[in-house]
Amino acid sequence: MPNLLPAVFISHGAPDLPIRDGAVTHFLKSLAQQFPRPQAILVVSAHWNSDLPIVSTAQEPRTIHDFSGFPQALYQMEYLAPGAPELAAQTVNLLHQAGIPCATHPNRGFDHGTWTPLMLAYPAAEIPVTQLSIQYDRNPLHHWKVGRALSSLRSEGVLIIGSGSATHNLYAFSEHYEASPPLWVQQFDEWLAQTIDRGNWEALLNYRQLAPYALENHPTEEHLLPLFVALGAGGTLAKGIQLHRSYTYGAFSMAAYAFV
Ligand code: ZN
Repeated sequence: MPNLLPAVFISHGAPDLPIRDGAVTHFLKSLAQQFPRPQAILVVSAHWNSDLPIVSTAQEPRTIHDFSGFPQALYQMEYLAPGAPELAAQTVNLLHQAGIPCATHPNRGFDHGTWTPLMLAYPAAEIPVTQLSIQYDRNPLHHWKVGRALSSLRSEGVLIIGSGSATHNLYAFSEHYEASPPLWVQQFDEWLAQTIDRGNWEALLNYRQLAPYALENHPTEEHLLPLFVALGAGGTLAKGIQLHRSYTYGAFSMAAYAFV
């Protein structure tokens, strides 16, 4: 009997996540204990943009070090989980059934939106993983529809993870990892938490018009778009649960949510 897994949104913050020690690293290290063990993991990363949803069919995805200016130790790290080509094929079928055009990529690896949190959450790297792209020029509703189309995967042992950041202004981060967040970060983050807690999905989908300091916290939208895929994957009657909340570098909320 397969276990129904939640769809999850996690904030990956800066790429140095695996070499830091703090509240969010402790949370991610405990994540696997909170759910049944997945058969496979589908990560929707803020760091893979394409015109149409693209899913990787790579058998042995490579680790992509898609950042610069961080400690050398990060560039030595590799996340060697097997790929999940069968899950990729299922993903394509489900998107097509929902009328959403999509494509596959034969050898796309794991960008840091995928491998840095998985290194903490599933360090053994034994569970097959594949990645799905987002569309920077499409709105939250499009991403919600993508998630909704994939919702049934949760009953087949697939853990769907949207990986982005609850707040993400790259021009406002502090050089100090443990800096306190400014009020405009806290207020947006609080609105997000309350809106999800109340299940007000219409407001959430219109966050750019309704949330305080939405444009300041997301000058570009890509780090919040994976949240809407996770929300959609939670199903039409999704309930949202906050799993974690802390901040790094002042500007990055590391909030995480489960949709069930
Ligand atoms: Zn990122």
